[in-house]
Amino acid sequence: MHSIIENIGLQFGPGAAWLLTSTMIFLRFAIPASLVFLLVYKWKRKEWFAWKIQQRFPKSSQIRQEITYSLLTSLLFGGMALGVFFLRKMGYGQLYFEVAEYGWVYWFLSLAFLIVAHDTYFYWMHRLMHHPKLYRRFHLVHHKSTNPTPYTSFSFHPLESVLEFAIIPVLTLILPVHAAVFFLFTLWSILFNVLGHTGYEISPSGFTRHRLFKWLNTPTHHNMHHHHARFNYGLYFNFWDRVMGTNHPDYDQYFESVVERAGKKPNVPLRQQTTKAAAVIVLLLCSSVAFGQMTLNDIKQGRYGTPEYRTQQVDSLMRVGLPLRADQISKVHDINLRYSKRVEDEVVKSDASDWTKYRRLSKIQDAKDKELKTILNATQFEKYATKRDELFWKGIQDFFF
Ligand SMILES: [Zn+2]
Ligand SMILES: [Zn+2]
Repeated sequence: MHSIIENIGLQFGPGAAWLLTSTMIFLRFAIPASLVFLLVYKWKRKEWFAWKIQQRFPKSSQIRQEITYSLLTSLLFGGMALGVFFLRKMGYGQLYFEVAEYGWVYWFLSLAFLIVAHDTYFYWMHRLMHHPKLYRRFHLVHHKSTNPTPYTSFSFHPLESVLEFAIIPVLTLILPVHAAVFFLFTLWSILFNVLGHTGYEISPSGFTRHRLFKWLNTPTHHNMHHHHARFNYGLYFNFWDRVMGTNHPDYDQYFESVVERAGKKPNVPLRQQTTKAAAVIVLLLCSSVAFGQMTLNDIKQGRYGTPEYRTQQVDSLMRVGLPLRADQISKVHDINLRYSKRVEDEVVKSDASDWTKYRRLSKIQDAKDKELKTILNATQFEKYATKRDELFWKGIQDFFF
């Protein structure tokens, strides 16, 4: 059984797999961004205008440019994702799938750690990007949007997009990260960025002075960064800007003036606002979860590694100690023999390229799984698949360490 991406890769080559991964990454960002954009820049533009931080709308040329750069960014993120995918196939990388391996405490801690680590990394990388030489050459692309929109969140110079997020794939190489943690982190990052660039402030008065909430950045905070191209370098938290004294001196005051304006013009009653905000959040979550799930499955399907190992070592159902009924044993044994022979003939003895061998092996494995499914019940098959993966990892460790 292969993921969509792997199948595309096998059928049409790695370029097509790259394109598909990038498209999925792009959609995962563009769907929530477009929903927000349509709501507050098109359909309900007038109703929400009081909440607009800068009381004007950007030119459509800015939005076109943002979308173009977002496409480029997605292509690079797609390349990064495929890189992690193949490294993992070769046995590098610490993505895991069973929560029990490290427990729930670690699960939550690792999610918090990813967010905090990215926030810290981003702050310093961002400040570096404001060095005049780097700024003109790279970071200016992001700052061309002085009045940001949801689409600004992916609008980076290609090299910068790699740098700003490079820490995440690197962390998954050295730190055990559960697949769902990885997924939730990217979801958080995309949603926070989209909302932070919306150009609208929906936080209530006093937010930036609240004991707890002041540590969280607001859309106004990042909007000021775009407007002035100075101050407010932080991403998720208002920690480093406070510690390093890089918050805009008028941040609190400006925030209150924005909120006050919105308060004076209650175009939409508060209750209705809350309902709408809740509806938007649900829509955002659903669309992101849908695409995130597809990506997650792709990573999960990549759990088996070198095809040779997968087919030769994991092949024998007898060896994995699967409880079989007497009538199943001979059938399974027959399948094992037949497919081992196919592997021997079509792969081991063949001098085709590695890519072709891999393609053949994957096809053989698929055909074998299909036949096994007709003999084994769902529970047995599940157990077989799990054992197959387990054995694979053991094999990788024996091989590399
Ligand atoms: Zn900047
Ligand atoms: Zn920005």
